[in-house]
Amino acid sequence: METKKLFDLDSYVRDFSATVLSCEENSKEKGSYLVVLDQTAFFAEGGGQPADQGKLGSASVHHVSEKAGVIYHHCDRPLETGTTVNGSIDWDIRFSHMQIHCGEHILSGIILREYGFHNVGFHMGHEFTTIDLDGELNAEMVRHVEDLVNQAIGENGEVHVSYPDKETLSTLPLRKKPEVEHLRVVEVCGYDFCGCCGTHVAHTAEIQLLKIIDFQRYKGGTRLFFLCGKRALQDYQQKHNSVKGLAEEFSCKPEGLCAAVHKLQNDLSEAKMQLNEKNKLLFDLLGQKLLASAPEVQGCKWIFLYGGFSADEAKSFAMTMAKQDDLFCSFFMPAGDSVRYALSKSKNAGSLSNKALCQAMNKALGGKGGGSEDLCCGSLPFISEELLRDFFTQQLGL
Ligand SMILES: [Zn+2]
Repeated sequence: METKKLFDLDSYVRDFSATVLSCEENSKEKGSYLVVLDQTAFFAEGGGQPADQGKLGSASVHHVSEKAGVIYHHCDRPLETGTTVNGSIDWDIRFSHMQIHCGEHILSGIILREYGFHNVGFHMGHEFTTIDLDGELNAEMVRHVEDLVNQAIGENGEVHVSYPDKETLSTLPLRKKPEVEHLRVVEVCGYDFCGCCGTHVAHTAEIQLLKIIDFQRYKGGTRLFFLCGKRALQDYQQKHNSVKGLAEEFSCKPEGLCAAVHKLQNDLSEAKMQLNEKNKLLFDLLGQKLLASAPEVQGCKWIFLYGGFSADEAKSFAMTMAKQDDLFCSFFMPAGDSVRYALSKSKNAGSLSNKALCQAMNKALGGKGGGSEDLCCGSLPFISEELLRDFFTQQLGL
């Protein structure tokens, strides 16, 4: 027997009582019971709208599914067949779904009217809702549509649900062609006529607000991301706080933020370029100084450096130095509780193996990393300059 759907003509039924017709443990989910009632206010997942949640007697309903007109309440405990239970749906979740679903109708109807694009996909997610369109919208069109939708919300028009007969159905300007004969039609005050099984608010002002938060190209068309009601307001509040905080940081007005960030990026690029130039000079001078006192090991010279640069700078310095003949570089940069390293070796520099030395160092000092004979990079748990020097002096047989 098909379950009587109390939400069908009245989405505002929150509490109800019903008779338990059957209850079986869910073979696909241990500890979950599938309860069938004679009637229910719980909406089963379908048509892009997620299932309701709530309570049936003392049981919690965490999911609702439908098969051949029968609604299955997925409960955390069994209910006795033949008994009467009181049910209540989580109204916050449901009302949010009603706002979003109704907002989606207006949005889809207006896009079709303004640009002729069809809604070909709808998904109500936890974070946001998406619709997929079979045409490409640009930023200006998205803004235009958003304005019109919010205007329609402010008009507070009525939302009607009906089951028109075949003859009436053929006269309605439906957005989608009906696939079934006994079609449930939702009319949103002239903005949309559409076959839909979902739950909607009764008046458009209850949607409160629809905000398109993003759009992107998708399968030759457009995917729109949007929020409605309380979630749209929360999004605005969060973003407002972020923008206000940033504007204070930059000592500018919110509308001047993009320009301020752009200037900061330019200043940073300029500073990086200057730093690179200065590092080149510094590497040159420091390299000469280190080489002047470098000891000879296994047919090449060895230079050691601890601190003074970032890990990337040390790597770049080690690579630059390795371009010289017969040189082995071991550079270490302490950062917090670790020491990053760069070991480089000139081509054909003596008999020393950079890789073997790196492996021996990792093993002895608990490090991670590796590379090639030219360059090995990685990190060690923090170790002092003195201990590192001692380790290399021993390894290199000095
Ligand atoms: Zn709908």
